[in-house]
Amino acid sequence: MKKVRVRYAPSPTGHLHIGNARTALFNYLFAKHHKGDFILRIEDTDIERNVEGGEESQLQYLEWLGISPDESAQKPNPKYAPYRQMERLDIYRKYIDELIEYGYAYKCYCTSEELDADYQSQKERGIASTRYNRRCLNLSSEEIALNDQQNKPYMVRIKVPEKETYSFDDMIRGNVSFESSDIGDWVALKTNGIPTYNFAVVIDDHLMDISHVFRGEEHLSNTPRQIMVYNMLDWEVPTFAHMTLIVNSEGKKLSKRDNSIMQFMSQYQEAGYLPEAMLNFMSLLGWSPEVEEEIFSKDELIEIFDSNRLSKSPSMFDRDKLNWMSNKYIQKLDSNNYHDLVKPFLDKSYDLSGHDDDWVNTLVDLYQKQLQYGAEIVELVKPFFSEFTMNEEAMEAFNEESTAVVREALLIEVNTIEEWTTDNIKTAVNNVRDKTGIKGRPLFMGARVLTTGLSHGPDLMNSIYLIGKTEIIKRLNE
Ligand code: GLU
Repeated sequence: MKKVRVRYAPSPTGHLHIGNARTALFNYLFAKHHKGDFILRIEDTDIERNVEGGEESQLQYLEWLGISPDESAQKPNPKYAPYRQMERLDIYRKYIDELIEYGYAYKCYCTSEELDADYQSQKERGIASTRYNRRCLNLSSEEIALNDQQNKPYMVRIKVPEKETYSFDDMIRGNVSFESSDIGDWVALKTNGIPTYNFAVVIDDHLMDISHVFRGEEHLSNTPRQIMVYNMLDWEVPTFAHMTLIVNSEGKKLSKRDNSIMQFMSQYQEAGYLPEAMLNFMSLLGWSPEVEEEIFSKDELIEIFDSNRLSKSPSMFDRDKLNWMSNKYIQKLDSNNYHDLVKPFLDKSYDLSGHDDDWVNTLVDLYQKQLQYGAEIVELVKPFFSEFTMNEEAMEAFNEESTAVVREALLIEVNTIEEWTTDNIKTAVNNVRDKTGIKGRPLFMGARVLTTGLSHGPDLMNSIYLIGKTEIIKRLNE
């Protein structure tokens, strides 16, 4: 088998989107599984849509996810560089000229007004899929020379062959075919001298020795145009794999404008999701392993990635599942890494100046088991930074007779604690049990509502410890 070389080819139009990240990931996993190369190529020919910093952002979040390219503009292999399409214009021009010379492409001097008028009239005549009328296809060499002499702007169109069928074996969809009769003469080079996506992608994939192309399903209908160019240049066509859409819970394609779903890796990083969890989650968007298990490290994914198991049906983006998975990863963090993840969120939201490290660590450790993403800590710890109040459910427990007994005994015990530690607090609560005979739920619920004002919460002894002796005595007295 030819060496596997795949590419992720984003347009630098913004941050790394979940759909693109998945494309990059599947390319990466396929490459690494086959000991091949993963290439990052920047498709920046749509100059109006490029945004400043778009390329850096793509790179930054790929690195964050741990899917680093083997080759890129930053890490060029001289054999294949450059890796930005706008730096390859001369290369495209050479092949454009070749195609013109062989009669596979031609210059079109039609202005956009002329084209619009013609498409309009086609529509009026009831033609739904309008196409270029080939007015410039048969210009004489004199006409062409005259136009060029007058510096008339032109584009270059591919002359679509008659009665040709373009079929290919898509790794995901199986055999797919398109008829040339459904395709009009399309633009390969725009009047500004910049190639279109469908043209540049062929030249680059060929010259960069790309063996397999994993990309979104929206590119399926572009594939016959690309195969056309491969055929004209007598080049080998790579193997295509068009991945299914990612849809929301209503089955609709994710739209970048839909704010109800976080769609960019930057947002997940900001919210305190771990890259390992994101990577694992995305690997299951349109792919499934043979085993039932779902938690996999990157290395495990590389090992088991089987392109035959890419799904044909749309994959649903399920935030609950992501949160479930993310929690599994947070649970596994060692103490330092867990603290590094959550502390910045605390710092941003609360004044911690009156608390030492031990206090802060004890606080955040209460939630490691349940935390789904870093930012969630802010809401969870809120009771420890709020005024004491009692909610309705707690009120019920508070009104029980046993609670009054617990209150009195606990106050005495707490007052005698010299060193304020969780262990000593535990002893105090045990003493309350021994002295009052109240145990189990009435004891613990009573102590909880009296000290925290809440009927549910994290570990009680640690909670009491965190609230602090003075405040606990104050609450028990009230
Ligand atoms: N620049 C294209 C995109 O971002 C790449 C498509 C392809 O992989 O061929 O969709």
